[in-house]
Amino acid sequence: KEVILSGGDPMTLGDPRLIQVLTDIRNIDHVEILRIATRMPVVCPMRFTPELLNKLRLFHPLFIMTHFNHPQEISFESAQTLELLVDHGFPVFNQMVLLKGINNNAVVVQELSRKLLALRVKPYYMFQCDPSEGTDHFRTSIPESLQIQKELWGKMSGLAMPNLSLDIPGGGGKIGLVPDFCT
Ligand SMILES: *Cc1c(COP(=O)(O)O)cnc(C)c1O
Repeated sequence: KEVILSGGDPMTLGDPRLIQVLTDIRNIDHVEILRIATRMPVVCPMRFTPELLNKLRLFHPLFIMTHFNHPQEISFESAQTLELLVDHGFPVFNQMVLLKGINNNAVVVQELSRKLLALRVKPYYMFQCDPSEGTDHFRTSIPESLQIQKELWGKMSGLAMPNLSLDIPGGGGKIGLVPDFCT
């Protein structure tokens, strides 16, 4: 019932090709929800032109899943695009990845989540970094991530809280990680 266009980055397609793909998927009877997973609101917010936004809104319900990892990535232009997306009716959700030395502390995650929420973007997932070649130095430990999650629960509303999750390598799927509040 749901189809996710994901990456690479589907927004690197030209408008005609993107619209064609979305049209073909919309024509499938049992598909209800579409999602586009894209980092363009971070790296190229001007990709969402007024013309494209008006074309994309014809495919509702269409969710935009984006990928801000640090509050410094929310530039003026990124913020403008996020507001435009929400104003055009797209629910926007953010999926971040915990990265060692970049955002692996509760203060940074808290600032990111609050800024996103104020732009009407729901902090959705906080992922453990996947094991992929060349990125080992960015990976954090699971106990450290749980500690961050635990600190956040005391400081933020449920709306601002992302779900800590770990993607099992080899197609094992995602599992949610919940800190132990009894210790
Ligand atoms: C995360 C993910 C989804 C979507 O999961 P939700 O929890 O429904 O947001 C779908 N397919 C794959 C391969 C994924 O990794």
